[in-house]
Amino acid sequence: MVRIEVDHGLCVGNAMCVATAPGVFAHNENRQSTVVDAAGDPEALVLEAAANCPVSAIRVVEAETGRTLFPPEPGAGS
Ligand code: SF4
Repeated sequence: MVRIEVDHGLCVGNAMCVATAPGVFAHNENRQSTVVDAAGDPEALVLEAAANCPVSAIRVVEAETGRTLFPPEPGAGS
């Protein structure tokens, strides 16, 4: 299970994440991405959406451990 945060100070609403993981992300009334269901798509798709966000507004954290899955932590390898 992951925890997903979208920084609305950064999100420019281009909907890349909504296109990549439509079960997880949806636009709110301000055309910014919000998380509607953190488990709505496979984790790999969530990470792909985060990686493809042009302004790096999406942060993905492993809920059990608090470990940051995206963005990659410095020194964490690949
Ligand atoms: S891809 Fe990034 S900028 Fe685009 S809607 Fe999603 S969070 Fe916002």
